[in-house]
Amino acid sequence: MSQNDSTNNMNWDLTSYFPKFNGPEMKEFKKQLQEDIQSITEKASSIASLKKNNQEEWEQIFLDCEDLTIRYSHLRSYVGCVASADSNNEDHLKEEAEMSVLGAEFSKLSSELLNSLKEADDEAFKSFTQKSALEEASYYLKRSREEAQKRMDQENEILAADLGVDGIGAWGRLYDTISSKLEFEMEYPDGKKLRLPMSQRRSLMEKPDRDIRKAAFEGGNEAWESIEDVTASALNAIAGTRLTLNKHRGINHFLDVALFQASISEKTFDAMLEAIHSEIEVPKNILRLKAKTMGRDKIAWYDLGAPMDLEFKKKLDWQEAQNLVQNSFSASYTKLGSFAESAFEKKWVDWEPREGKRPGGFCTGSLLTKESRIFMTYNETIGDVLTLAHEAGHAFHSYVMRDIRPYAHFYPMTLAETASTFGEMILTEGILHNSSISNDEKILMLDTEINHGAIYLMDIPVRFEFEKAFYEERQKGEVSVSRLKELMTETQQRIFGDILEEGGEDPYFWASKLHFYITGVTFYNFPYTFGYLLSRGLFAMFKKEGEDFLPKYEEFLRLSGSDTAENVAKRSIGHDLESPEFWVESIHTLKQPLEQLKKLL
Ligand SMILES: [Zn+2]
Repeated sequence: MSQNDSTNNMNWDLTSYFPKFNGPEMKEFKKQLQEDIQSITEKASSIASLKKNNQEEWEQIFLDCEDLTIRYSHLRSYVGCVASADSNNEDHLKEEAEMSVLGAEFSKLSSELLNSLKEADDEAFKSFTQKSALEEASYYLKRSREEAQKRMDQENEILAADLGVDGIGAWGRLYDTISSKLEFEMEYPDGKKLRLPMSQRRSLMEKPDRDIRKAAFEGGNEAWESIEDVTASALNAIAGTRLTLNKHRGINHFLDVALFQASISEKTFDAMLEAIHSEIEVPKNILRLKAKTMGRDKIAWYDLGAPMDLEFKKKLDWQEAQNLVQNSFSASYTKLGSFAESAFEKKWVDWEPREGKRPGGFCTGSLLTKESRIFMTYNETIGDVLTLAHEAGHAFHSYVMRDIRPYAHFYPMTLAETASTFGEMILTEGILHNSSISNDEKILMLDTEINHGAIYLMDIPVRFEFEKAFYEERQKGEVSVSRLKELMTETQQRIFGDILEEGGEDPYFWASKLHFYITGVTFYNFPYTFGYLLSRGLFAMFKKEGEDFLPKYEEFLRLSGSDTAENVAKRSIGHDLESPEFWVESIHTLKQPLEQLKKLL
C-alpha cells in the first residue's frame, strides 16, 4: 500500500475531515457509522408506529438518526471532495461506490422513520413534536409526516421502489445512454463538415457567430429527430409512472408533488407566474437589445445563449480572483468579506485546472466540523470569478446556519440558491465600481446578468408551461411525437410572442433538454426561477435599506430549513410572497443593468 496521501496534490486542505485518505481514522469512522446505521434501523423496525406509549423510544431513535446524519454528511462530503478533485484514482471511485451503498442503507432507516409517523394519530404526534429534545425540529417532523401520509403502505412502496429500478429509473438511464452517445453533423460556414458528439453542441450554440449557432442548432435537431421515438417513449413512460403512483398514493394533482418538494403554496406560485406574465416586457426588452446588437429585430431560439461579440483582454490570476471577491464582499457586507478571507486563508477551495478533475463547481460541507469546501476549475475568466462568488455565497449560508440543529438544516431547492445569487450580485456591483476593470469586461458582465434574466423569465417558464400541458394530455393517454413538437412550438410562441422570429422555435427542445428526464425530481424548472427572483428581490431590499437589512437577511438564511418558503420570508424580511407585488418589484430590478448596458454600448 502506498504511503502517500492521495489528497496531497490538491489545493484544498482536507485534514479537518480526516488526517489522511483511507487512513485508520477514516476507516474506523466509516465502520462505526455502518454498524450504527444497521443497529438503529433494526431497532426502528422492531417498534410499532408512534403512539402515546412509545414516545420515549421514538425520541431516542430520532435523536440517534440526527447524529447519524451529522456523521454521514461528514464522510459523504469528504468522499465527494476527493473523488471530484481526482477521479482517476480508483481508490476514490471505490470509496464513492461504497458511499452510495451506505446511502441506500441510510434511506432504509429514513423510510422506517417516515412509516412511524404515517400511522401516528394526531394527538400522539402533537405531543411528540412538543418534546423539549425535539425543539426546532417540529417543521421537519410535520413535513416528514405529510410526506409519509402521501405514501402507499410500506409493502407497496418497497415494490414500487424495486420496480422503479427497471422502470422509471431505467427510462432515465436509457435517455442518458442514447443522448450521450448521440452525434450530429456540424457544417461550418466555410463548408467544412464534422461529426461531433452532442455534448459539444451547447458550447457551439454559445458562440458569438450566428451562422455557427444556426448550424449547430439545425445539425443537432436532425440528430434528435433520428431518436425522436425513443425519447418520446421515455418521456411518456416517466410521466406515466408518476401519474400512476400519484393515483395510488391519493395525490390529486401532479403539481402538488412539485409544490411540496419546492416547499411553497399554490398561491405563492400563482403570484410569481402572474408577475412574470404581467411584466413580460422587461425580459422581452432584454431580448430586443440582444437582437439589436446582432443587427436584427427578432431572435431565434438558438440566439438565447449568444454572448456579446467581445473578448476579454485580461486574464485574471487566482490571487486577483480572490482579491476581487473579497474586496467586493467587504465593500458592501463586512461579515461576508471576512468570511471569504478566512475561507481563502484556511484553504477551503480547490481551484487549479488539473487532469482528472471533474467538470463543474459545487460547495459541500460537513455538519460535524461545520466547515465548507468549494470545488471549481479556475480558468482565469470573469465568469470563473463569478462562480467563486457563487460558491462562497453557498458556504456563507452554511456558516450562518452553523449552530442550527441538523433537522432544521434541510432547505428546499427554492431557497438553496438565495445566498449564492446574493454573492454573485455583490461581486457584480463591486466589479462595476472597480476602475481597474475595462468597459468591455463590464459590458460582458452586465450582458451575462441580463441574459440570465431572459433565461429565468422566458426560457424556464417555457419549460414549465410545456411540461404542465404535456402532463395534462398524458393523463388521457400517450402523447405522440408530432403532438410533443406542436406543444413545444406553441408554448415558445405564446411566451416569446413578437420577439421570436418566424420559424425560430425549437420543436425538439423536449427531446434535447435533459431536465425533462431527471427521474428523481418532477418539474425541475420553476424552482430555479423562484430562487432567482427571490434573491434579486432580497438584493433590491439590501440596496434600498443598506446595512439595516443584513440582520434580516441572515435571519432569512437561518430560517431556510425551518419553515415553508413564504413563512421564512414573512418571518424574516416581512414580505408576502403570496402577492404578486414582491415578484413584480424583483423583475423590475433587471431594468437598471439593462439601462447601464445600453449606456456602455
Ligand atoms: Zn448554486
